[in-house]
Amino acid sequence: MHNDVVLTGDRPTGPLHLGHYFGSLANRVRLQDTYPMYVLIADYQVITDRDLPGEIQRNTTELLLDYLAVGIDPGKVTIFQHSAIPELNQLLLPFLSLVSVSELSRNPTVKDEIAHSSQAAVSGLMFTYPVHQAADILFCKGTLVPVGKDQLPHVEVTRLVARRFNERYGEVFPLPEAMMGERPMLKGLDGGKMSKSRGNAIALSATEDETAALIRKARTDSDRLITFDETNRPEVANLLTLAGLCLGRPPQDIAEEIGYGGAVALKSLVTEAVNEFLRPIRKRRAELAETDVRTILAAGNEKARERAVATLGEVRAAMGF
Ligand code: ATP
Ligand code: MG
Repeated sequence: MHNDVVLTGDRPTGPLHLGHYFGSLANRVRLQDTYPMYVLIADYQVITDRDLPGEIQRNTTELLLDYLAVGIDPGKVTIFQHSAIPELNQLLLPFLSLVSVSELSRNPTVKDEIAHSSQAAVSGLMFTYPVHQAADILFCKGTLVPVGKDQLPHVEVTRLVARRFNERYGEVFPLPEAMMGERPMLKGLDGGKMSKSRGNAIALSATEDETAALIRKARTDSDRLITFDETNRPEVANLLTLAGLCLGRPPQDIAEEIGYGGAVALKSLVTEAVNEFLRPIRKRRAELAETDVRTILAAGNEKARERAVATLGEVRAAMGF
């Protein structure tokens, strides 16, 4: 569509990893030349699954460095944070009135995150943050949302909120679409969803030695003939998938090339492929780390806030406040 607006984001909970790259970042870089784009550092959503925001300032800067290193261009893209945009957060209130408690509690991604949370009790924010994401997407009238598979239920919540708001108060919001990347759910080195918070990720910013150590520890099996069999050899298939993505080759091909080389040859090939792929990104990141990137965020926050003020004004007018 011609007047599409792209919105997407990440929580500043730790360094971005290959799952982000192949799930969402590559799409963002591709789309930034064509559409207006907002990228959100979702800082208020850090405390959905933990008690404290942790090293929020440092994680925010690191996230920004990851964005810039993969090629997100702040000349084209508005990068901003929740905590700087009160008017975005204020949308949560009317939006929450549009969904039922039972709709909130059957969200499958929320259930999975509760299962992996280290909190003793599940917070109210854990159930309501998908509606906060509706505010993230709708404040700028986002229509295209490049995300991984775990975000599909949340984009559905956003569509529900937009549809119901329009029905009750008149047409204000477009209905957004999720756009999934080449690998909508990249698995981590333990076979579960690769996640910043689950200790199973290869960070874009890891060193070559750290990368090698992580891959060395990945589980495999004792069959020396390497084959790509996702059902019966998921660990081996996952490593082949990683190498395939980084080399731009089918994983079956790579398996054939390794043949009877076993886990040792497989791991050394994967390590080489990942490090080679990430080398230019890591180099650019190290250079950027020497500069003052926080000014980029200040400029983005100002632009996003203007947009949020306008949308909140429309919402209040539509509701008769
Ligand atoms: P956390 O463990 O702290 O929740 P995360 O790794 O899940 O971190 P998020 O910040 O929650 O990362 O997600 C940011 C974006 O990256 C979302 O669009 C999400 O769908 C996508 N994403 C995260 N992990 C993966 C993955 N393993 N494969 C594909 N996309 C992913
Ligand atoms: Mg997550």
